[in-house]
Amino acid sequence: MDLRTQLGLRPVINVSGTMTSLGASIAVPAAVEAAAAILPQFVEIADLQRCASAAIARACGSEAGFITASCAAGITLAVAGTMTGDDLAAIERLPDCSGLKHAVVMQAGHLVNYGAPIDQAVRLAGARVVPVGQATEAHGYQLEGAIGPSTTAVLHVVSHHTVSYAQIPLVTVIEVAHARGVPVIVDAASEYDLRGFISRGADIALYSAHKFLGGPTAGIVAGRKALVRAAYLQNHGIGRGMKVGKEGIYGSIAALQAWGARDHAAVRESERACLYLWRDGLAGQPGVRAVIEPDPTGNPLERLRIHIDARSAHITAWDFVDALAAGEPPVIARDHEAELGYFDLDPCNLHPGQERLVLQALTTALERARSERRPATPLAERRRRQIAQRLRWPD
Ligand SMILES: *Cc1c(COP(=O)(O)O)cnc(C)c1O
Repeated sequence: MDLRTQLGLRPVINVSGTMTSLGASIAVPAAVEAAAAILPQFVEIADLQRCASAAIARACGSEAGFITASCAAGITLAVAGTMTGDDLAAIERLPDCSGLKHAVVMQAGHLVNYGAPIDQAVRLAGARVVPVGQATEAHGYQLEGAIGPSTTAVLHVVSHHTVSYAQIPLVTVIEVAHARGVPVIVDAASEYDLRGFISRGADIALYSAHKFLGGPTAGIVAGRKALVRAAYLQNHGIGRGMKVGKEGIYGSIAALQAWGARDHAAVRESERACLYLWRDGLAGQPGVRAVIEPDPTGNPLERLRIHIDARSAHITAWDFVDALAAGEPPVIARDHEAELGYFDLDPCNLHPGQERLVLQALTTALERARSERRPATPLAERRRRQIAQRLRWPD
């Protein structure tokens, strides 16, 4: 019996991507085995983190690295490291940052929310965010103007969450920051490119172990040795509440190794087969146009974008997503932009055979919409309902 049924949990099918709210990703067998193997053992954690440093250095081309609780924790610790260096007293004083540089410069279009506001991850270190430009545009000269004597770091975000146009490219960010002796931290939480940010000059690159890598819930900090050490030493300060266990460290090492050995072409091929199945299976459905879309930040993957003409389909994109989530089995689609009239299906976290259940759920929801012809849910009401539901927990 499915353990979710035993627990009274809904057996959700995830076509939304690597979402924290759904349990991130399917952990790869090597990571599962590694976590299980080390849990009953004692180890000297600093030595296990030395192993992690070597594994991260190999995978990312960095001087050093360590594992923490999450990428969000990595942001806080990396920022704190740039503030304190290896001053253990300053580390224990944080988030009191008197006497320390504490301004973190970020493009306004990078002030994202990945389940929590990114500026809060910065503020947890005692730092403050200095925004550059506006959401709609930012320029190198504005970045130059924002860097001053109290600047401790520039934080650059690579993500589909950021504004996707008229932002300062990473090469320019690195050039401007380095000319002023300021380190650049790259939040690359869900980027496949483990080496590119470091090789282009980023001082620290941060990844989630539990996203594309299929590791346990953890964060990967890679970068220059002195900065990595300074971030790591925060475990004796504000990092304590972001502790990662031996299973997270060893599981992440295993996931990094498995990533290097993975047959990426075969994975892509089987994901493409899902996209074709859904696209072809939706052909001829009134008001539905399904298009294969490349990943917006250039990761080597594609998703199926389903554009909905609500008048012909008799359902809006967001009501469609909600109908799928309420179905049997529940299918959770990628709906960040549903109000624009489309949603995406991401095949990266499917178990074999689930792609057929997804197609069935899509056609069932469309047929029902055509027969029931319910009025569209106003967007404002949908968003109110989502927040009300959040506030009801644990009921
Ligand atoms: C997911 C994500 C995070 C948070 O990563 P966690 O490891 O879940 O804390 C941070 N930044 C971006 C851009 C993300 O996509």
